[in-house]
Amino acid sequence: MSVDTIQKIGIIGAGQMGLGIAQVSALSGYEVHIMDSVASQAEAAIGTIEQKMIRRVERGKITQAELDSALPLISASTNMAAFSDADIVIEAAIENEEIKKSILRQLCPVLKPSAIIASNTSSISITRLAAQTDRPDQFVGMHFMNPVPAMELVEMIRGIATSPETFKTVSDLAKRMGKSPVSAEDFPAFIVNRILMPMINEAVYTLYEGVGSVSATDNAMKMGLHHPMGPLELADFIGLDTFLAVVNVLHEGLADSKYRPCPLLVKYVEAGWLGRKTGKGFYDYTGDGDPIPTR
Ligand code: NAD
Repeated sequence: MSVDTIQKIGIIGAGQMGLGIAQVSALSGYEVHIMDSVASQAEAAIGTIEQKMIRRVERGKITQAELDSALPLISASTNMAAFSDADIVIEAAIENEEIKKSILRQLCPVLKPSAIIASNTSSISITRLAAQTDRPDQFVGMHFMNPVPAMELVEMIRGIATSPETFKTVSDLAKRMGKSPVSAEDFPAFIVNRILMPMINEAVYTLYEGVGSVSATDNAMKMGLHHPMGPLELADFIGLDTFLAVVNVLHEGLADSKYRPCPLLVKYVEAGWLGRKTGKGFYDYTGDGDPIPTR
């Protein structure tokens, strides 16, 4: 299938990534259906996308006319059957291998034979996920960055069975969405997260060992390296559950103790302090003013 035949895009997971991918897909003129197993997530999807698009209009990033034509292209439900006429389905559910595998097994019988499946996983083997499907040649990694509308990169990951045609079609699709694809091999966490996540994990260790407070660590990295966000602020933005899942994939997949997740990070996730999405992580976002460090 060439990129010209793609008309309808299915998205699994109405979290921050799924909604971002839906937004850029609709703004590129594609019909989009978002599916989430949690009814409240599916119900909130369109309203959340609209709010985010209104903010982009206010900031001059898109026009009101673009919003008006994109929004009606998006629908959402808890039902996978809506993917029966999708040309490609992009899986963006939580970073849990067993859940992703189960989603893929449910998805395949619904799809038309030509449909491509892409996964937005941050770290999990594309080859292993593809093996759960009836079409490993039509399966590819399509790793968007967060926030999707603002970040130009899409990491493209070829599984062992991914066909050159599938890889090209999905790379071309990324370009039609205004993104720049970069090719990465199928090793744990690919390129960006292989480098980024150990750095953020080390920032949590500096906090854990008392080398620096939350503010000191973030300020040092912002002022010392001109990073736009400090590592702990970035961890909260990514979601601490997703961050921990990626570090675990690096630790297990590369079998090297240098990737061991910081116990303090594990504790935050166990507490349900997952960062911005739950209102509290390394910072508390529940007040009206600036976020307050939690340590
Ligand atoms: P999130 O927690 O914001 O959203 C995950 C969504 O998946 C939730 O709405 C949840 O209800 C849904 N879900 C869970 N089980 C499901 C199922 N069985 N079927 C359908 N939906 C289900 O997470 P996110 O940050 O959007 O991450 C999603 C994916 O994108 C992960 O694979 C993650 O690694 C990847 N990713 C995340 C980032 C980031 O910065 N957060 C960046 C790039 C890629």
